[in-house]
Amino acid sequence: MSPLFDLHTHSDCSDGALSPSELVRLAIENQVDVLSLTDHDTIAGVDEARAEAHAAGDVIRIIAGIEFSSVWRGRNIHVVGLNVVTDSPILQTAVQKQALARSLRAQAIADKLAKVGMPGALEGARQFASGDDAIGRPHFARFLVEQGHVSSIDQAFKRYLGSGKLGDVKQQWPELSEVVAWITASGGTAVLAHPDKYKLTRTKLYELLDDFKSAGGEALEVVSGHQQDTVTSKLIRAALDYSLLVSCGSDFHSPENQWQSPGKMASMPSGYPAVWDRW
Ligand code: AMP
Ligand code: MN
Ligand code: MN
Ligand code: MN
Repeated sequence: MSPLFDLHTHSDCSDGALSPSELVRLAIENQVDVLSLTDHDTIAGVDEARAEAHAAGDVIRIIAGIEFSSVWRGRNIHVVGLNVVTDSPILQTAVQKQALARSLRAQAIADKLAKVGMPGALEGARQFASGDDAIGRPHFARFLVEQGHVSSIDQAFKRYLGSGKLGDVKQQWPELSEVVAWITASGGTAVLAHPDKYKLTRTKLYELLDDFKSAGGEALEVVSGHQQDTVTSKLIRAALDYSLLVSCGSDFHSPENQWQSPGKMASMPSGYPAVWDRW
């Protein structure tokens, strides 16, 4: 049996529901062999994940990771950094910069919500996050549900927080090329996260890949969670066209979502040059 890799997961250091230790235990239960914790814009959970794996007898290998938020042509694009050196000064500075961006953005989102009759959102979102610099739209979504402004998280995104809506504030994020440079300068591999989520035409996706590759991007997440085989084939084709390594991950956030669990994602075809070949 080939090892099971899950190279995209979240803990409560960003917008996940489990602590890094709980995540590692669930991944072990699910027989994941190699796990990367890739919280949004932070590496705060990596040490705890490593310690838990060690306490469990090193039955699972932890890869230090991060999922950076960026913009490319006005769109919010996520880039996963795998196997980064966590004490790299460049990474430390990048994380501080993103933390500041995230807290300014949280204030901006709250101001926008207040203007349309939903006050107190910053304090509200704060209750669900590990700190102001970790607040994201999912924490605002929980506040909107709690207040009865919407009936579900899904509705919160559809009405207020999703792409193009009032709470979709992204001007604080750096350019795609900048986050790719942070990752490579801190010894990591830059992976374009969940390419199918951006709803790009093939032409636009290939333009994105041109820019990603020119910036030093090295891999494409050809499997993200449960996706159709036709999507996987299309993305493998793109990876081959651009000589990008392949990667895969569940993008796990919470056990409440029964469709998402560490190591449970669409099957990853073997035989293509992969990010883990160099580990
Ligand atoms: P942020 O980091 O604040 O930009 O928030 C982005 C996060 O929101 C993503 O990583 C997902 O976890 C979550 N998200 C995005 N769109 C949706 C949606 N339609 N429903 C639920 N969660 C979403
Ligand atoms: Mn998320
Ligand atoms: Mn993402
Ligand atoms: Mn993610």
